Amino acid sequence: MKFSMIFLPTLKEAPSDAEVVSHRLMTRAGMIRKVAAGIYNYLPLGLKVIRKVENIVREEMNKAGAHEVSMPMVIPAELWQESGRWDAYGKELLRVKDRHERDFCLGPTHEEVITAMVRGEVRSYKQLPLNLYQIQTKFRDEIRPRFGLMRGREFIMKDGYSFHATEDDAEREYRNMYDTYCRIFERCGLKFRAVEAETGPIGGSFSHEFMVLADTGEDAIASCNKCNYAANVERAEIKGQGARGKGQGEEKPLEKVSTPGMKTVEEVSGFLKTTPQKLIKTLIYNSDKGALAVLVRGDYELNEAKLKRLLDAEWLALADEQTVRQTTHAPSGFAGPVGLKAKIVADFSVQVIVNGVTGANEADAHFVNVNLDRDFKVDAFADLRTAVAGDLCPRCDGGALEINRGIEVGHVFKLGTKYSEAMGAIFLNEKGEAQPMIMGCYGIGIGRTAAASIEQNHDEKGIIWPMPLAPFQVHLVPVNAKDKPTMDAAEAIYKDLRDAGIDALMDDRDERAGVKFNDADLIGIPVRITIGSKALKENSVEIKMRKAVDVGLIKIADVKKRVLNIMEQADRVGVITATQLPQSP
Ligand code: ATP
Ligand code: MG
Repeated sequence: MKFSMIFLPTLKEAPSDAEVVSHRLMTRAGMIRKVAAGIYNYLPLGLKVIRKVENIVREEMNKAGAHEVSMPMVIPAELWQESGRWDAYGKELLRVKDRHERDFCLGPTHEEVITAMVRGEVRSYKQLPLNLYQIQTKFRDEIRPRFGLMRGREFIMKDGYSFHATEDDAEREYRNMYDTYCRIFERCGLKFRAVEAETGPIGGSFSHEFMVLADTGEDAIASCNKCNYAANVERAEIKGQGARGKGQGEEKPLEKVSTPGMKTVEEVSGFLKTTPQKLIKTLIYNSDKGALAVLVRGDYELNEAKLKRLLDAEWLALADEQTVRQTTHAPSGFAGPVGLKAKIVADFSVQVIVNGVTGANEADAHFVNVNLDRDFKVDAFADLRTAVAGDLCPRCDGGALEINRGIEVGHVFKLGTKYSEAMGAIFLNEKGEAQPMIMGCYGIGIGRTAAASIEQNHDEKGIIWPMPLAPFQVHLVPVNAKDKPTMDAAEAIYKDLRDAGIDALMDDRDERAGVKFNDADLIGIPVRITIGSKALKENSVEIKMRKAVDVGLIKIADVKKRVLNIMEQADRVGVITATQLPQSP
């Protein structure tokens, strides 16, 4: 492709709303342009990268035995009503009406459509298993679209769904998809980790997120410094604190103290000259299982995913002021377990607090020297807090958890029979019995994967594409576009490369060399070949890798061979070795 012919508007400045480097560089390199919040045009360079990611995904999915389909983006409400998600999904679901006032939504994910498709055709175990996927535009009305393609409202996803006659077969396919995802992200040249993720009511370890390691990631990952345990912090378990039993120490008499306007952990512990570790933070929650109080040590964060699992709740949320007042008879900020008439669950960390501090269930007052059993009772203790660095690993002896940040690029999930039961996707098993199909679902964010690659591969000048995702393999820079011998040599090399199937971008613009080099660094194509009159006298050109500082001279006749060699090497360099799917606990 010639630079003068392609629509490649590079920019010196990034847009002011671009908070992360991938968003800044994708915009500056002329890959994307914003149309509305979280909605983008893909310009030629951006689309080329997107297609590269898609093709890797497609090749590996096909190799793994999945079949590509295409489902509509506009989905009739009836399907979502059947699954119950028309009401449950919330505001991320963009609902629209057609000219007959019928309800539709823009598909944020396609469990309903695929389940309806398969139930209509599959009757017998003999027609199973099936693994179907599509690569398609999704719409989610995200509350805070940001970071460019990383969290868009309209975005491209590979979504796959599998259908099985037995649990064993569903688990076999889960592993197949897990391995496939490892291959896909390796081929994309990403440093990633598969981590255990929240499974909701299904439980077990049948949900893994594929995380690209990056400081700008929105997710936090806990990983053991000794074994290969890794989990989203939403999920990360903390080792056996329950076994420690009740705390030791002399119990002092309970006392009520005045704490005017002191509500937060910091305010109360500062005012009472104690530490957050002494505070029993009391949170009032609403859920489909009713209102309840949740206790956690003052310096820890309650983990709502863990609470939800403990309660087996469909939904839960911090209670509003009215519910807090009804439950505690005090304004929020002064709740405590002493004398509280509500269900109380507590994190293990509360078990060992001796002479603690809690709200007194009245305005501007707290209790000090609060002790478990003597002053309050707890209905259930559980691991309810979010893991922090240094917590003990739940899987090995002596390992400690580290916390790192990651970008979730993919997710594999064993769905079970949630959709097949709700929507009647039934088959007859070998004995002729009617059973719901067992399902799995498998997603990859295509645009997010491209953006994540930039988060990992860039410098202050621009993007550094790994060969497999690069929009072009070679960037040709004739230094002086007005010099005929220079342009003739550049054209000859360009043709030679293209004839060998190498995708080259030639900067044929009549611009200063500095401008062209800056754009080349910004766009980040792996190999740069500079054609200048001085080296040409020796029948040579300059060759430079985007990542390297060194510039080498190479005979024009050798360019093609050298580039093919670089490409072959780049394909062979696995960036990270396959992580084996850990055994189920
Ligand atoms: P997140 O927690 O980041 O919102 P999710 O759990 O909602 O992700 P899934 O429903 O599992 O995501 O979707 C599958 C994949 O689609 C994700 O792993 C991610 O790569 C991608 N994805 C999800 N939401 C977005 C978005 N708003 N913009 C771009 N990609 C997205
Ligand atoms: Mg989401």
